[in-house]
Amino acid sequence: MKKIILFLAILFVVYLIGINTVPSYIESQRNPVKSPAPYSVSAEAQALYERLDFISDLHCDALLWGRNLNERGDRGHVDFPRMREANVALEMFTIVSKSPAGQNMQSNSEDAFDNITPLTIAKGESPWNWFSLINRTLGQSEALAQFVEKEEGKAIFIRSKADLEELLDARKSDKSTIGAMLGIEGGHALEGSMENLDKVYAAGVRMIGPTHFFDNEFGGSAHGENGAGLSDFGKAAVKRMNELGIFIDLAHASPAIVEDVLNLTSEPVIVSHTGVRAVLDSQRNLSDDQIQKIAANGGIIGIAFFDMAVGEPELPNIIASIKHVRDLVGVEYVALGSDYDGSVAVPFDITGLPLIVEGLMEAGFSEEEIRAVMGENVKRFFLQNLN
Ligand SMILES: [Zn+2]
Repeated sequence: MKKIILFLAILFVVYLIGINTVPSYIESQRNPVKSPAPYSVSAEAQALYERLDFISDLHCDALLWGRNLNERGDRGHVDFPRMREANVALEMFTIVSKSPAGQNMQSNSEDAFDNITPLTIAKGESPWNWFSLINRTLGQSEALAQFVEKEEGKAIFIRSKADLEELLDARKSDKSTIGAMLGIEGGHALEGSMENLDKVYAAGVRMIGPTHFFDNEFGGSAHGENGAGLSDFGKAAVKRMNELGIFIDLAHASPAIVEDVLNLTSEPVIVSHTGVRAVLDSQRNLSDDQIQKIAANGGIIGIAFFDMAVGEPELPNIIASIKHVRDLVGVEYVALGSDYDGSVAVPFDITGLPLIVEGLMEAGFSEEEIRAVMGENVKRFFLQNLN
């Protein structure tokens, strides 16, 4: 009996040590930056950057790692203090609830070992979240709500057009007020239940990508096994998302799902973090035909900063991808969709966004176009389409 108690006590101590060290170690390995802050740009680019009054980013997985977003971190890419340093007005925080071991671009099985399970346990989350995708999702939603709450009015959880208007109003006198939106990567988080769709809406989720790295109840992933379009559940969920006012994110969707969603949806879509095939011919990237259809739908395309989206994660490839969308369909359809903190190596953290402005200037973008890409397009999109 004593031995059992001793064994459990040792196990508990190991667990406590693990909570404090394992997630931070994993994150520092998984989310590097190619060059560390501070970043410097030309005086002209910096001046233009400082004239921007609405900078936004459509995709960031910072909630996954258990880091305190109220404090400036020394690892990863985004937290509230760094958003303020970069004068970023709005970030879309996205929830990853399951990630297959050996995750790769080509083909992943729904049945592979899930890497988020040990991470969830190591983060010290409630045992209710250890093996439940919906509970993990609601846990990360609650975490964002609490981070916002702790800011005592200096951060706003954007769930509606009225919330966004409140943010815009607050920023007229105080640029330190920031906005946070909430999204989900992969409809498997709903565990095949329409009731869970209503639950995540109530928790503040306003964007869902039907699939992530593997096929699920919605249909096929761009990196799955079956290449399927929307299932009956997926179609019903898309209709319900339209009714509720949850945007559909086509990042990671199979080409068949992209097609099905665009035929079915009554609302404009988001592609929160992507690249374009014209720059990198990868199976997660958009073809010109898809870009044209998304523009015709009134959608918005966030260009990501990492290798699977743009090739070598360097500034010129990010700029080339943004430029391609502008040249093909117009500047009003393109935005930033970094994938910060998404288990990716990026050239710079969020405080390096002035480098994007410098790159766009060098590529011949006008100030008006740069404003559009850096955030005005996202602001307009949400003002028009949030309920
Ligand atoms: Zn992703």
